[in-house]
Amino acid sequence: MDRDILERAYAAIGALTPMRTDCGALCGAACCGTDSDGQGGVHLFPGEEALLQGQDWVTGIAPDALAPIMLCASRCDRETRPLGCRIFPLTPVRGRNGRWTVRLDARARAMCPLLASGIGGLDPDFVKAVRAALRIVAETPEGDAFLEKWHALEDAYRKPLW
Ligand code: SF4
Ligand code: SF4
Repeated sequence: MDRDILERAYAAIGALTPMRTDCGALCGAACCGTDSDGQGGVHLFPGEEALLQGQDWVTGIAPDALAPIMLCASRCDRETRPLGCRIFPLTPVRGRNGRWTVRLDARARAMCPLLASGIGGLDPDFVKAVRAALRIVAETPEGDAFLEKWHALEDAYRKPLW
């Protein structure tokens, strides 16, 4: 996916975060925490791997069926962090009209205290911005296909739970 699309998607979200206050204070920034192997990870959108070259907080890129997974040092430069981090704890889903919208990501359930309040508990500007960013991604066939795969993965995780 072109750098231009990614940069427009990043800009659509800008500095917005799930809450107007620092939600990391609620949970010790659980979504940036380390796994049992000592690292955190997020799937990269198409084209993001190239944008992360040279970032010293990227500790590795691991192959995965959906997309490469970026491993980080549980810290990053907010300006260059991947889209998967910027949209969390939301995930793409198609609305009845066929356009991409968002819902809470079932994979966040184990760690994110914000899920208890539902999507209405998030900053509405953040929700709108993430929706807009995902629609920018979907402007390209590659981006749209990637959202389908991302959604399928999240949906498969959700079904046994909800
Ligand atoms: S886990 Fe949820 S509440 Fe905690 S920092 Fe991440 S988005 Fe915010
Ligand atoms: S890249 Fe940044 S926002 Fe994403 S998991 Fe790592 S520390 Fe958290």
